[in-house]
Amino acid sequence: MKITRISVYQVDLPLEHPYWLSGGRLKFEMLDATLIKIETDAGIVGWGEGTPWGHTYLPAHGSGIRAGIALLAPDVIGLDPRSPEGVMRVMDVQLPGHPYVKSAIDVACWDVLGQSAGMPLWQLLGGNEAAKVLVNSSISTGTPEQMLARIQAAADKGYTVHSAKVGGTDVALDIDRIEAISAGLPKDHKVTFDVNRAWQPGVAVQVLNTVKARDWVEQPCQTLEECAHVATRVSNPIMLDECMSDFGDHLRAWSTHACEGVKIKPNRLGGLTKARQARDFGVSVGWQMHVEDVGGSVLADTAALHLAASTPAPNRLASWLCHDHLRIDLARTQGVRNLGGHVVPPSAPGLGVIPDLEVVGDPVAVYT
Ligand code: MG
Repeated sequence: MKITRISVYQVDLPLEHPYWLSGGRLKFEMLDATLIKIETDAGIVGWGEGTPWGHTYLPAHGSGIRAGIALLAPDVIGLDPRSPEGVMRVMDVQLPGHPYVKSAIDVACWDVLGQSAGMPLWQLLGGNEAAKVLVNSSISTGTPEQMLARIQAAADKGYTVHSAKVGGTDVALDIDRIEAISAGLPKDHKVTFDVNRAWQPGVAVQVLNTVKARDWVEQPCQTLEECAHVATRVSNPIMLDECMSDFGDHLRAWSTHACEGVKIKPNRLGGLTKARQARDFGVSVGWQMHVEDVGGSVLADTAALHLAASTPAPNRLASWLCHDHLRIDLARTQGVRNLGGHVVPPSAPGLGVIPDLEVVGDPVAVYT
């Protein structure tokens, strides 16, 4: 089987409400999504998506994906999409680094492989059933009262696991946020305090040794080395996210005792092929993981949730659904949907989501 055509679509995904991270220094209102359709000489069509969370969250941006695909397409056409690893090796030679550029092509190859094998992605990725995956809310930074009200609204939708965004220049306010949420959260709920790299190590040590914070603390500082420094000086389990861009980062995090868990995000790591490698490493060293994408429509969410569902339950924490925050839906009724605090991945062969072309529009580029 050979790839005969790659079509690239660009879609603006407006967020339902403006969203603040990192103590309010990063604001997000619109996501720039790239969808990829791969056609083959066997008549099988695969879909993938790459959607950065804006352009300030990670070293990634929407137009960069489309520019990278223009470079890669001539070398990807003619390859067998049933070997996503083989396609990834070619992409890594033609464009070293830039993992976020390769994610959508990689997911589309997995979609073709699944359809050709007659198996859903959760099964191809190592799962033995369409496992229920808990979903977590994502609580934008605000005053302690605003954040508790947002948690209550999420609880009303069935969420029992929350990611509360903290981390600012006002240390006292961060302490207030963490203490108010830790005390005000229902007993059977869980929370991760996501700092989104806003603290200097000294601030992280000071805040986390002052508060009685429930559960996990995520990405307290900018770099892996800074987070490792903090991890040895506080009692909360540490989750790493933005600083984990490749497999080497996962090895370094483990060897420096920098964390007890990581976020596995296909678009950050370079698609399902590399996300699976990081996930398997995490399972082998006993990490607990959130498997979800950086952002995007229900298509990106569903790809990531197949990987989450295939992850052993003891190593799997809740997953976030970006499409729950969007004003438009690219594939109504399809893919993973919040069923009162959990999702179940589709069991149709492949990815199990075909975007609605009336919403997606015409391709912005076609390579043959
Ligand atoms: Mg995070």
